[in-house]
Amino acid sequence: MNRKIGQYGGKLPGTLILAFGALHGNEPAGVHALEEVFRILEKEHSTHPGFKFRGKMVGFIGHLQAFEKKVRFLEKDLNRIWEPDFVEQLLHDKNDHTAGEAREIIEIFESIRAEIEAFPSQKIVLLDLHTTSADGGIFSIPTDETESLAMARELHVPVILRLQDSIEGPLLKFAAAGHFKTAPATVTAIAFEAGQHDDPQSVQRAPLQPLYAACAPQVVATEAT
Ligand SMILES: [Zn+2]
Repeated sequence: MNRKIGQYGGKLPGTLILAFGALHGNEPAGVHALEEVFRILEKEHSTHPGFKFRGKMVGFIGHLQAFEKKVRFLEKDLNRIWEPDFVEQLLHDKNDHTAGEAREIIEIFESIRAEIEAFPSQKIVLLDLHTTSADGGIFSIPTDETESLAMARELHVPVILRLQDSIEGPLLKFAAAGHFKTAPATVTAIAFEAGQHDDPQSVQRAPLQPLYAACAPQVVATEAT
């Protein structure tokens, strides 16, 4: 199985959107939503030849090994171990880390770096799509950066403020702090909880909402034909 779910755009300058589903392997909804968005974008392109998309969007499976096994994680929660020193050490001794969450971190880091190099952009948006075990509805979890808060507001779903402060080692905190060596580009990172794991609504629809919201500013309005 490929970590990269798909990509779209890359012909016009603009924001690089990096979207992750299943950073917890038992949360497939984000992966299915990403597949759906790429299908919609391709279809739009073939039915409206004038359809243009600024920037580029790339979708990834977060925890590939856990996703294949349909489990949340192997040994450690992959969304709690993005500590800069730990990641740096893994990258330094990467030949010693060919399994478990360490391998996922190294591969995600290298995948993100490859996308940044392939499509240099002033602005990077990192979306992290989750579902929950409890029926908590749909909400967004921004970092406390202005851009992330602004994006959360635009989505018209409840916003949980400062949750990132109380969590150790989430991917988005690492990304927002620039540890993917994104400078001079700025990173806007935001997570979404899109309903319950096994609710058909969250598998089919809910994570589409933040994806549409992220794509909307990228679409160049074309004249109706
Ligand atoms: Zn999750």
